Amino acid sequence: MTPFNYTSRPFRVVFGRGTISSLRSEVEGLGLERVLVLSTPQQRGVADTLARMLGPRAAAVHPYATMHTPVTVTERAMVLVRELRVDGLLAIGGGSTIGLSKAIALRTDLPQIAIPTTYAGSEMTPILGETSERAKKTIADPRVQPELVIYDVDLTLTLPARISAVSGLNAIAHAIEAMYAKESNPITSLTAIEGITALTRAFPAIAANPLDSEARADALYGAWLCGICLGAVGMALHHKLCHTLGGSFDLPHAETHAIVLPHALAYNAPAVPNTIARLQPILGDDPASGLHHLLVNTEAPHSLRELGMEERAIAKAADLALMNPYWNPRALTREGIRALIARAWAGEAPRS
Ligand code: NAD
Repeated sequence: MTPFNYTSRPFRVVFGRGTISSLRSEVEGLGLERVLVLSTPQQRGVADTLARMLGPRAAAVHPYATMHTPVTVTERAMVLVRELRVDGLLAIGGGSTIGLSKAIALRTDLPQIAIPTTYAGSEMTPILGETSERAKKTIADPRVQPELVIYDVDLTLTLPARISAVSGLNAIAHAIEAMYAKESNPITSLTAIEGITALTRAFPAIAANPLDSEARADALYGAWLCGICLGAVGMALHHKLCHTLGGSFDLPHAETHAIVLPHALAYNAPAVPNTIARLQPILGDDPASGLHHLLVNTEAPHSLRELGMEERAIAKAADLALMNPYWNPRALTREGIRALIARAWAGEAPRS
């Protein structure tokens, strides 16, 4: 066996249906008395419900999280954190809300409780992606890792089937890149395979019935495991492309991941035969095509063009992706990356 390093970080996880009923006792256990409840504007209703459950231990609800964690949004929240002398953060929502919580924690070291309602996996990582002046910067810092994560399957039942599919593919992207990461190790790969298996098992059932709680539990469990992979090892070409496209062209996060993933895996496939062999029993003989089919069988957009990216931006995106590239198992060529983005832009099938 090849020697490896593995680092695990301390955090508590509560997983199940109806688990938010334990929120108040969990908050008391952490000794928090002035918690700021964060959400997007769309999820204000559930944030208000949680604040009511916390009673006087909720300092306020701040429902202004947005995608890609703009620094201007964080600075606005920081004013409230100081004014209300907040002693803890509660993020209810997807990666956008958890991102805002992390950005505040980076500046204050306040303890965080995350209640994830998508499959993005941010709650499991010490990583924050912040956007300023159309550039997304990634920061790794132990202060941004949430101390407590409450997974409540019931809160994911409202995630529309279309967002569920792209968010699930976003999770699978973390697991796949972890399997061929520079720091890949047997523990993370085992976690990745279990996570991808649970998510792909859940996809058809959720598409048929978004209220299927067994399938939702499978998907949330899979997303948790894929999030662990994201937090455990470095990511490669796929994540670099998605950060570039999201930060510089303001493309939506999960949709971009879902569209780019088959193409990034196809690009790397010749260099990672062991990963491909382990994915074949789950995703078929050609795992990149398997991922492409998972996406085209949903109502989600299949191409970057549908997300509003202009064709003339392809060349610029390729140049940006090659600036400060992440480590990648296959050498990056400008023409190879440009062709990859062009196929993703047009919604074509992936090619190695
Ligand atoms: P999101 O948090 O923006 O959520 C998408 C939309 O779905 C929002 O309008 C939200 O309010 C809504 N929503 C969420 N859960 C819902 C539910 N259960 N029912 C109904 N509506 C619901 O999307 P996302 O894909 O989860 O997160 C994207 C952001 O997370 C990006 O900024 C990305 O960079 C970041 N992210 C960071 C990490 C990390 O480790 N740092 C990992 C993954 C994603």
